[in-house]
Amino acid sequence: MSNCYSFDRLISLSPKELKKTKDMAVQIFSIPEERLAELVNEVIDSIRIFYEAGNEELLLETLAVFFHESVCYLSQIRSLRNSELYHFLRVLNHVPILAESPFYTETLNILSKYFKQDPSIVKLFDKLQNMYLFEELGYIEGAKALAKELKSKIDDSNLHLYTLFQICLFRLMPEDDWESRLDLALNLLYKVYHQEGPECSIFLIIEWLKAAEALKHSPIYKALLKNLYKLCKHDMNLNSASIGYELFELSNKLVSPEEKLEIYNELILYPSNILNSLQLRSLHFFAGNYLSGKKEKFRLSINSFISSNYYLHKCWERLVEISKYVRTHSTPVMFKNSVVYLEAQFLNLSHYTSIRNNCYVENLQTSFEEIEKLYREMEELSLTDSLTGLKNRRYKEINLFQMISFASRQGSNICFVMGDLDHFKRVNDDYCHEAGDMVLKELSRLMLDEFRKSDVIIRYGGEEFLIILFSLEQCAARDILEGFRQKVDKQVFIYDHQEISISISFGYYCRYFSNRHDEDEVNKCINYADLALIKAKETGRNKVCAYIEPTNNPA
Ligand code: GH3
Ligand code: MG
Ligand code: MG
Repeated sequence: MSNCYSFDRLISLSPKELKKTKDMAVQIFSIPEERLAELVNEVIDSIRIFYEAGNEELLLETLAVFFHESVCYLSQIRSLRNSELYHFLRVLNHVPILAESPFYTETLNILSKYFKQDPSIVKLFDKLQNMYLFEELGYIEGAKALAKELKSKIDDSNLHLYTLFQICLFRLMPEDDWESRLDLALNLLYKVYHQEGPECSIFLIIEWLKAAEALKHSPIYKALLKNLYKLCKHDMNLNSASIGYELFELSNKLVSPEEKLEIYNELILYPSNILNSLQLRSLHFFAGNYLSGKKEKFRLSINSFISSNYYLHKCWERLVEISKYVRTHSTPVMFKNSVVYLEAQFLNLSHYTSIRNNCYVENLQTSFEEIEKLYREMEELSLTDSLTGLKNRRYKEINLFQMISFASRQGSNICFVMGDLDHFKRVNDDYCHEAGDMVLKELSRLMLDEFRKSDVIIRYGGEEFLIILFSLEQCAARDILEGFRQKVDKQVFIYDHQEISISISFGYYCRYFSNRHDEDEVNKCINYADLALIKAKETGRNKVCAYIEPTNNPA
């Protein structure tokens, strides 16, 4: 069976040890019953060598190779019957099975075939559930007390309860008692395989591995699970879900978030009666956190957040179910003792919930900052002229009035300037439109360099500019504009090796703003600047003209 996989890279067992382990893994299912005890001892002996030598690595390797080989073998056997036990084992993921749960009647139906007349079966099943829950909650004393009580009451004449009981037992055994644990598991495997077929045996192997804490941090364990998952994945059944979930639960160091997300995407496709709400919680919780950390998937992250919150809620419900169940199905003393453990679980859950929320709020904030930035950029773009990068006319409508109000609160000289290129049409005609564009761009750059950052330069029309100069000394406007006019006059623009010269005319109007004013007043000022520009054009172009208020001369 060794053809399906070997842990070549990770396994350092000698070829002889490897072969022996693999042989034993297959034999365990095929030897006659009277030779079983002998083979189980042989398996245990082969591991004890490494245990006694303190070589934990080889011990883990042997276990991993052994169980891997077993699953390879089992997965190639077509099961001939529809195993009821396998069907029944699904309950393990859903304990406690309460009377109102959909599994309840189904489970009891399966069990009642064995004990049609015996109502004590339900009681035994309830006690087993308690034992399982106590072990899960960490209330080991309670679980042990129940184990003691059940030992004399459950035997293999009811394979369902017996299997459940044995699983609870090896989960309870201390880690260092690996010999008893293995002994118990191998005997159970043999029995279950011969009565119920390969799927149940694979399930037991997975349960056994899940209870073996020492394996969990080893890369060999990850490799083992990955191979088992590959072997069983296509079945999409209880076994593949259990393996997949176990792989998913390994530390992030062993299994990367990307690998986990891949498993997550596969596992959430399973029917809802396979994984329990706690397991689903964990899956969604992870995906919710992982995806909401990825800002580019903002919408996805919101959905994940919602579903992971939903599962946190489900998990809360399950804890409530457990506590209800323990209260109604165990002794008052046991219930009292288990409360401490239940409380710890509740605390743990609320801790999760708050981490989840904090995490999300942080992500949300980052996303909002991102959106705000994009929004600002977009707004900026919509107020900017695309050819020149200057403000466009929309800017005047939206911001200018507000800016002037702000400046006038402190009292400010504001100068409104209209500028227009002289005979610009000729540039287009003599050269080409692209040359005209280039001149407009270059000129805009000159203006941005010339004026202060606090001034506003707007491309008001094609080759027409509105400039607002703030906080100017009354007489400074003329000098500034005259200086710039001369600069443009001297500037040579080069387009396609051709030299282009242009000139510009300005009209301006200065006013002191110190108190409230309305928008019309601002427009009036712009209009005055425009009138001054017209005067500049009419009186020869390439000049700067101020608007002169008409004197009211009654005479
Ligand atoms: P004046 O001195 O009287 O202002 O003469 P002018 O030719 O500059 O004025 P007129 O208003 O007759 O023509 C403006 C020209 O500016 C017409 C148009 O082709 C050109 N123009 C406007 N916008 C653009 C532009 O974005 N790119 C280019 N290349 N030319 C433009
Ligand atoms: Mg012009
Ligand atoms: Mg014009």
